[in-house]
Amino acid sequence: MFGFFAKRRRKKIREGDFPGAWAEILETNFPIHRQLSAADQRELHGHILVFLDEKMFEGCGGLVIDDEIRVTIAAQACILLLHREPAYYPTLRTILVYPSSYLAKHPHDEKKKHHRLGESWQFGPVVLAWDSSRRGGKNAFDGHNVVIHEFAHQLDQIDGAADGAPTLGQGEERGQRRQLYRSWALVFSRDFECLQKKAAKGKRTVIDHYGATNPAEFFATATEAFFEKPRQLKKKRPELYEELRAYYRQNPVAWHGSRDR
Ligand SMILES: [Zn+2]
Repeated sequence: MFGFFAKRRRKKIREGDFPGAWAEILETNFPIHRQLSAADQRELHGHILVFLDEKMFEGCGGLVIDDEIRVTIAAQACILLLHREPAYYPTLRTILVYPSSYLAKHPHDEKKKHHRLGESWQFGPVVLAWDSSRRGGKNAFDGHNVVIHEFAHQLDQIDGAADGAPTLGQGEERGQRRQLYRSWALVFSRDFECLQKKAAKGKRTVIDHYGATNPAEFFATATEAFFEKPRQLKKKRPELYEELRAYYRQNPVAWHGSRDR
């Protein structure tokens, strides 16, 4: 359990001033934050302050880390934490950032290499391409956001298994939690299979076809759609939207207005 003193320290950091220069970075690189209520914006600022206090950033491939990179990535990672008692990605220490897509080992064939925009390791770093991370923050309506994707994996991995089911119903009693997991499994397995079938036929879907790879990728890509195409997701997959709304305790339809059609 997270210690009393550490919790108190975080609370103090959250209540600190959010630098004006950082607010300007959000204006430019994460404009969707303006759609949040004033209270949510304040909460997001507090989470960014804690996140940047606790996580290390390392530039790779010659990239020099600056506040623009740190704040832009932290904001997108922290949008997933609103309205909850956040654990701030407890197994994560370091975020490695490359200038753009980088060569990495193929997940299913060690001998092969392929270009990647990001990855998330359990008990290891999150790796991100800076150009894609910035593009994802600037455009909150295209359904693609590599930072949200990789940090959704982090949430999924907290309980020790990257299986598309994050920790549900924290603080709820056992029977209630069991019910939450049952409902989650039912909706997610049905919609995952549906995506697999549609992807195999090449049909257009609101969730990226990459989500058909496995349940962990399904959760990560569904999270991207939830935050970036909420209206479409709610219309096409209302039960999935409800599961994600309950888990994230947010309703992005409200702050997307009419742009997401
Ligand atoms: Zn992924």
